[in-house]
Amino acid sequence: MEAEKTNDEREGLDFIRRAIEEDNKSGKWGGRVATRFPPEPNGYLHIGHAKSICLNFGVAEEYNGTCNLRYDDTNPSKEEEEYVKAIEGDVRWLGFTPANVIFSSDYFDTMYEYAVDLIKKGLAYVDDQSAEDIRKNRGTLTAPGTESPYRNRSVEENLELFDKMRKGDFPDGSKVLRAKIDMASPNLNLRDPVMYRILHESHHNTGTKWCIYPMYDWAHGFEDSIEKVTHSLCTLEFENHRPLYHWFIDAVNKGRPEDKKIWHPQQIEFARLNLTYTMLSKRKLLTLVEEGRVKSWDDPRMPTISGFRRKGYTPEAIRAFCKHIGMNKFNSTVEISVLENFLREDLNKRAPRRLAVLRPLKVVITNYPEGQTEELEAINNPEDESAGTRTLPFSRVLYIEREDFAEVPPPKYFRLFPGNEVRLRYAYFIKCTNVVKDASGNITEVHCTYDPATKGGNAPDGRKVKSTIHWVSAADSIPAEVRLYDHLFKTPDPEDVPEGADWRSNLNPNSLEVVTAQLEPSLKSAKPGDRFQFERHGYFTVDPDSTEGKLVFNRTVSLKDTWAKESQKGAKKK
Ligand code: ATP
Ligand code: MG
Repeated sequence: MEAEKTNDEREGLDFIRRAIEEDNKSGKWGGRVATRFPPEPNGYLHIGHAKSICLNFGVAEEYNGTCNLRYDDTNPSKEEEEYVKAIEGDVRWLGFTPANVIFSSDYFDTMYEYAVDLIKKGLAYVDDQSAEDIRKNRGTLTAPGTESPYRNRSVEENLELFDKMRKGDFPDGSKVLRAKIDMASPNLNLRDPVMYRILHESHHNTGTKWCIYPMYDWAHGFEDSIEKVTHSLCTLEFENHRPLYHWFIDAVNKGRPEDKKIWHPQQIEFARLNLTYTMLSKRKLLTLVEEGRVKSWDDPRMPTISGFRRKGYTPEAIRAFCKHIGMNKFNSTVEISVLENFLREDLNKRAPRRLAVLRPLKVVITNYPEGQTEELEAINNPEDESAGTRTLPFSRVLYIEREDFAEVPPPKYFRLFPGNEVRLRYAYFIKCTNVVKDASGNITEVHCTYDPATKGGNAPDGRKVKSTIHWVSAADSIPAEVRLYDHLFKTPDPEDVPEGADWRSNLNPNSLEVVTAQLEPSLKSAKPGDRFQFERHGYFTVDPDSTEGKLVFNRTVSLKDTWAKESQKGAKKK
């Protein structure tokens, strides 16, 4: 456990933790902290959900409390078993253990009892108006609503109709159960909100037992209440729903003796996470999957937790990011580079370094004996001595990166060009003597000489070279498919499209580039999920698409933030 925090550290507490500490001090909840993470299983979790997960499970951990994973499965049509499995897997991968895994639908019986209770108290009624009329009669922010002609039905009639609704006597959309609150309330959520609607649809958990389903506002508070949640943490869009959250629980408690009252939690709202170049709406992400614009929910370009995982992100980096952004009361947008920097920081410490040539160009060392191979020592991770060393085979024919050679060097180009000498990482100095071209003038190979005295990378005569490039031995290297990813959207705000245009027109057509790379042979034994730094390129992970004999790598993140550089350049030009 953490040591007692000093007053200074407490100052840094966000408003939610501050509220919890105040409650603990006053004994409001008997010192207990119980939270929940309540996703609707209608898609995969995304990085926005990670913020909520880190908060809910995080405070439970910090204050010795509990956090439930609760599937908010009150809506039968959109929910699928696949999502349920994926969600729990993602929560656990992030490093959290739910105290209980619960389905809201398990509470349908209790919610039904509460609804009958409200009808008996004259606080709910069956309305025969169409959905359209209900909407029309709701009024606006400036005009009060109009009461339904069915609002004053007797308790007996309401009980009978609601029972028939449950039994399946009425078609979809023909009736709803509404709370009887106030059609003139300045808060539109309190203008007789719908509690139940009729839906003759089978549910993944309750099957065909129900043909009426509770609405979110009616259900959510009771789910929290049944689980004796102390702090119901949700996003800002629910701030206007809070009075209703309390009204429903108060309505059930009305007239009950103290010992029969149901648990009444409190709701606290925080800002959603928005990230540049990132779409955080399950509905829209589903569209991308369904329309084949990405390969799957866990396509590494997707902002889903499973997409980030497949791309090579670590749970530690995501948690450190969530801790860094903290909690606030105003919606804002965080730069994706902030998340990427946490990942770089984490991988820098733990990813073994390897040499990989992404776009190979053949180099022949003409003064190196044919058929000879030697093993050169290379350091696995300069940040971690315990990672040790490995050897790299060196021979007469090598591959270097195409962009590390220029036949006619542009100004300030210090890499390989005719007449210039460079260092091969962990190996020798080489000097370019000439290039070989095919009939159409394309360079097919570059000829160089090496200086045997520079073994290990330094010249005994003290002469310097201006650059060090990476390489692999052609005969020993292994080919691999490498998938290079870029942002899925072209603009920082994915919804930023010209008037009338669809958000999908903003998809980046170059979000995936596939190259055939040549890797140093030690990578042969890499397994899906293993992470490496390919020197000078970035961090890469083995994709599960890999098969025996054909490795597939994903670029997790480049070494530097190339987009920031681009936008700086743009800014300077202006
Ligand atoms: P979406 O619009 O993507 O479907 P949602 O809010 O409907 O999101 P839920 O499954 O209902 O998704 O969300 C579960 C929990 O995660 C809720 O408490 C919700 O407030 C929270 N959450 C969802 N998106 C974000 C986000 N971008 N930032 C922080 N919390 C989020
Ligand atoms: Mg939702």
